[in-house]
Amino acid sequence: MYLRRRKRVAYVTSFKCPVIGNVGGTADYVRPFQETETGRFFMEDEQMNEKLEQIKAEAMAKIKAASDLDALNDVRVSQLGKKGALTSILKGMKDVSAEERPKIGQMVNEARAEIEAALEAQKKAMESKVREAKMKSEVIDVTLPAKKLKVGHKHPNMIALEEMEDIFIGMGYEVVEGPEVEKDYYNFEALNIPADHPAKDEQDTFYVNGDILLRTQTSSAQVHEMEKGRIPIKMISPGRVFRADEVDATHSPSFHQVEGLLIDEHVTFADLKGTLAEFSKEMFGADTKVKFRPHHFPFTEPSAEMDVSCFKCGGKGCRFCKGSGWIEILGCGMVHPHVLEMSGIDPEKYNGFAFGIGLERIALLKYEIDDMRLLYENDIRFLNQF
Ligand SMILES: [Zn+2]
Repeated sequence: MYLRRRKRVAYVTSFKCPVIGNVGGTADYVRPFQETETGRFFMEDEQMNEKLEQIKAEAMAKIKAASDLDALNDVRVSQLGKKGALTSILKGMKDVSAEERPKIGQMVNEARAEIEAALEAQKKAMESKVREAKMKSEVIDVTLPAKKLKVGHKHPNMIALEEMEDIFIGMGYEVVEGPEVEKDYYNFEALNIPADHPAKDEQDTFYVNGDILLRTQTSSAQVHEMEKGRIPIKMISPGRVFRADEVDATHSPSFHQVEGLLIDEHVTFADLKGTLAEFSKEMFGADTKVKFRPHHFPFTEPSAEMDVSCFKCGGKGCRFCKGSGWIEILGCGMVHPHVLEMSGIDPEKYNGFAFGIGLERIALLKYEIDDMRLLYENDIRFLNQF
């Protein structure tokens, strides 16, 4: 027991002033006599020192003996924890006289700090040993070849589309996208195809309900743009369209179109021809010629289909152009005045032209693919070729 009941007076042998050090007999710092009769607990400094040395020695031995980090942590808990020897001394402090308390407290704290420092030093040593062992066991062979990342590439449709977009953006056009699920009004009516129009039969599609459908043409995006009333309009609108068609080499229930629209004052058919001739040269080569054949579309008047000179044989006639020297590319025409009117544009003041290109048709021609289905099957062996 480190505390014992004493009946004699305790003297102070030295006292340390916190500011100026040992002051010897200066009255202010000398601990007063304790009355023998008070019967309080005292602790001789020497005895306490001995006890603390013993605790320290025991702790140090245990720290040294700890074989790993877990064992070291057990030592920390047993020595410094709630049930540790140091804590029990601190718990006994309530029985120590008020004069003794700071001194003993300081001694306990010093012992604690020493044990903690030893624990920390041992922990660091152990950790660096673990790290060293890990580094030795996990050697990286930098001469091994790296894992190859498989990077995909663009679909033929996408390559053709980006090329077309670049050409029209170069001519000052905007790229505008519209919704694939569309109202009957925007897909048919506003484009001069009323309910009883035969063109509606040709473009049979998938209906969500009587009024909502999957769009059959990207022209619906043009109506949305015209309704905004910002003129001039110079736009192309690429996107997916739908038809109730059976799948074969040239048909699919889902394919892609790129529609173009220009609305301004004093637009003529010559502007239309010039624009599309320029586009064809950029897309198929500088020597490409264009030919316009009269046609009918409900939303343009006059309307035409445009052929380009065969870019395989230069117009002489080959298997690719079926001997004609020409390849059909797109439909176009001057926007019907009634279409302008329905979208709130004054047909007396403004006019314009529109065209529609099947994206797949361009991709098939450009890459000489003879079956449209190949574009949708996502066979890597096929797609890898582009
Ligand atoms: Zn040809």
